[in-house]
Amino acid sequence: MAARRLCAAGFQVAVVEKCSGAGGRLSTVPLGSGLADSGAQFFTVRTLEFRREVDSWLAEGLVYEWSRGWSDGSLLVSPDDGFPRYAAKGGFSALAGRLAKQLDIHCSTRLSSISYVNGEWRALTESGDAWRSRAVIITPPVPQSLRLLEDGEVCLPENERVTLRSIRYAPCLCGLFLIDGRSRLPRPGALQRPGEAISWVSDNDAKGISPGARVLTVHASPVASDERWASDDAAVLRWMYGEIAPWIDTGTGLIASRLERWQYAVPVDIYPDRCFPSAHKGLLVFAGDAFDGPRVEGAALSGWAAAEAVIARL
Ligand SMILES: Cc1cc2nc3c(=O)[nH]c(=O)nc-3n(C[C@H](O)[C@H](O)[C@H](O)COP(=O)(O)OP(=O)(O)OC[C@H]3O[C@@H](n4cnc5c(N)ncnc54)[C@H](O)[C@@H]3O)c2cc1C
Repeated sequence: MAARRLCAAGFQVAVVEKCSGAGGRLSTVPLGSGLADSGAQFFTVRTLEFRREVDSWLAEGLVYEWSRGWSDGSLLVSPDDGFPRYAAKGGFSALAGRLAKQLDIHCSTRLSSISYVNGEWRALTESGDAWRSRAVIITPPVPQSLRLLEDGEVCLPENERVTLRSIRYAPCLCGLFLIDGRSRLPRPGALQRPGEAISWVSDNDAKGISPGARVLTVHASPVASDERWASDDAAVLRWMYGEIAPWIDTGTGLIASRLERWQYAVPVDIYPDRCFPSAHKGLLVFAGDAFDGPRVEGAALSGWAAAEAVIARL
């Protein structure tokens, strides 16, 4: 979102991404013949700015309204609270890929450090390539951003280090299960139980992103994820599959499963403004969902705010 706004304002922008595609925690992964959103499951709209953007995505057919409420685990019809939740056509990775299409994006490129040398930023990749720039917007989860700067020997003011180190995230263990039967999740195919060890279960076939292949996405709560983080994948998957038995038809077989580990899933202690421009003499702005909004909308608004902060200074 930051890069799109900067490009629209006429700046030359390179986006550097360690994964094979754009999106980060907007992530859709294959399992057997199916697909599943493994990170963000849906998004909401609370501000007018994001409303306008989402309306354009709706008009383009990139996203659709999935639901207006979730089952709390009951097999009865899900309640309608009148508040739309949106999903992306083909999964969230498809939306991210579409938004990144016009950008100069370098995927499968992991940065190892960011340094400030002779009045310019240098972002160094693991394979030894380097980008030079007048400004950096840094958007990984904040502990990872701070590590990149430390490895580049960038010295942030002490008060900034303290503030940024106080941003904390909760982990999430995410199990994906391809089954040969039907899920019993009531329409539109998901349940949400924030206080329980299994906090989310969704059926990606019912959601519309995995037609004909029933892949379930299962999220463990922050506490349950923390407790089981050290367990091996097979043990976590066994536990999860046992827990979701009430929402799967009896006699259903398990075809395949995989575990995704999100160490920095959602920020729990956030910074109260939409971005964090550093007082470092080089132009450096921290952004992402830890800045004023621990969800998809917050990350988008943060990206725009960071772009505006850069535009104002260049
Ligand atoms: C399991 C889970 C469930 C969620 N559910 C919801 C939900 O239902 N609704 C909702 O609104 N939000 C949800 N969220 C939160 C939402 O996904 C995030 O708030 C949002 O996607 C964060 O976007 P971001 O751009 O700030 O960070 P990220 O998406 O994390 O982007 C950071 C990017 O930096 C890249 N990166 C990191 N280090 C490097 C490096 N060294 N070199 C190059 N690239 C690097 C990463 O690969 C990543 O692409 C969920 C998140 C998770 C994990």
